[in-house]
Amino acid sequence: MSRKQQQKGALESNTFYNFVRFKVVPPLFLLLFTGAVQVLVSIGRGQSPCPLDLNQCKSICGNAFAWKFVTFSIFWAMVGLWVPGKTFIGPATPEGYRPPYKANGFLYYTVTSISFILVQLIFPDLPHLIYENVPEILGCFNIVAFALCVWLLFDGRRKKKSRNPLLYDFYRGCELHPKLFGCDVKQLTNCRIGLMLWQVLVIAFVLTQWRNGDGVAGAMTSAILQTIYLAKFFHWETGYFNTLDITYDRAGYYLCWGCLVWVPVLYTFHSYHQVAFPSTMSTGTANVALLLGIACVLVNYRIDYEKQVFATWWNSKERKAGKGSDSRPRLWSRPVSFIPAPYVDATGAARESALLTSGCWGVARHGNYTFELLCTFFWTVPAAFGHGPIPSMLYFFFLLALLVHRVYRDEDKCQAKYGPAWHKYTKAVPYRMIPFIY
Ligand code: NDP
Repeated sequence: MSRKQQQKGALESNTFYNFVRFKVVPPLFLLLFTGAVQVLVSIGRGQSPCPLDLNQCKSICGNAFAWKFVTFSIFWAMVGLWVPGKTFIGPATPEGYRPPYKANGFLYYTVTSISFILVQLIFPDLPHLIYENVPEILGCFNIVAFALCVWLLFDGRRKKKSRNPLLYDFYRGCELHPKLFGCDVKQLTNCRIGLMLWQVLVIAFVLTQWRNGDGVAGAMTSAILQTIYLAKFFHWETGYFNTLDITYDRAGYYLCWGCLVWVPVLYTFHSYHQVAFPSTMSTGTANVALLLGIACVLVNYRIDYEKQVFATWWNSKERKAGKGSDSRPRLWSRPVSFIPAPYVDATGAARESALLTSGCWGVARHGNYTFELLCTFFWTVPAAFGHGPIPSMLYFFFLLALLVHRVYRDEDKCQAKYGPAWHKYTKAVPYRMIPFIY
């Protein structure tokens, strides 16, 4: 019996684990998080957080403006994936399928952001209208996400012949790479709607605050840092197709609702909160936070980039053909070092991968998460000035929990995949996130 099968058997025989995984987490997540977002939008604008408030209940169904905004956002995102352009072939699934993606992320991001800013010249009230209708927009996205996930559930169960509990498949998803109207569902929901909406909302909130005239220094620092981060994301979008979200998580409520509703609400919360509760951060402090935040975004980018350089070389025909005495790319002025990591894929085929041990990846195993957290700190902290970190810095605390949990999730995955090679890697690079500490 292979190591993977042994681990699977151990998990399946663990009835408590299965009870929590199948019966507790899905309903808890559905009730708690879906309700939490409606409460958050009320708290963020200083209104009663009671979910039974009649006015707030009405917002769950949206309104004409919100439906127009949501329909246009989805249609525009689909157009971005339908237009002809370069294709990026993603990493192979355990079954050997390599999904194609549209590789025009940065173009889509710049065209959308610039167009949105230019539209303000014709409709100067648009940012304020968006801010005023956030609860309704969110209500519409909740309905859309629910409908999408019902379709994903039935379509996925039909194709995969899944025998998991229905609610678990709804929550966790059935398929890794489903398609809707010719679009990859995860590229559509995660990148083209969720993250683009993050940018559009941040612009709308900062312009609303600009018009109100209070706390502009802090709001600008938040907005500029998030804009740099999002531009960086779209520039690197094809790298995102190698991450856990895409290669490991299936398209279900957890991921698709998360990107359609949770990201626009929680990831923009500090900017949204500042409109009703302006930051008292001075211009000098805001500039320091801005500079430190930019440095952290750049380091986070650099770490992801180093892994991408290494993966490109590792998968290159030249390396596979053994051409050149040493074709290794250089990091920090030295040829890269790595640990060969053979593994067996789901079809039973032997494969060869490698774990980078030089550059930033020789310092800590998840340095990208550390700098992701630091830049998040610098763009959420302005909202805490004058109002305290709770709830204004909620996104930072959420990400702290998410990324620390993700470290263990990722390491479990790598341990199961690479076994002894992963063990050797943890000996060569002993720290997870912070050298000498953790
Ligand atoms: P990583 O980019 O760290 O990818 C982890 C995978 O990389 C592992 O599963 C393994 O996959 C491979 N790997 C691990 N160590 C090495 C190594 N030394 N050499 C080569 N390959 C290695 O994590 P994520 O995909 O989670 O994150 C990507 C980016 O997204 C980061 O910048 C992160 O901060 C950001 N992020 C942001 C979030 C947010 O909500 N704001 C949430 C999550 C991530 P394999 O099986 O291919 O070997």
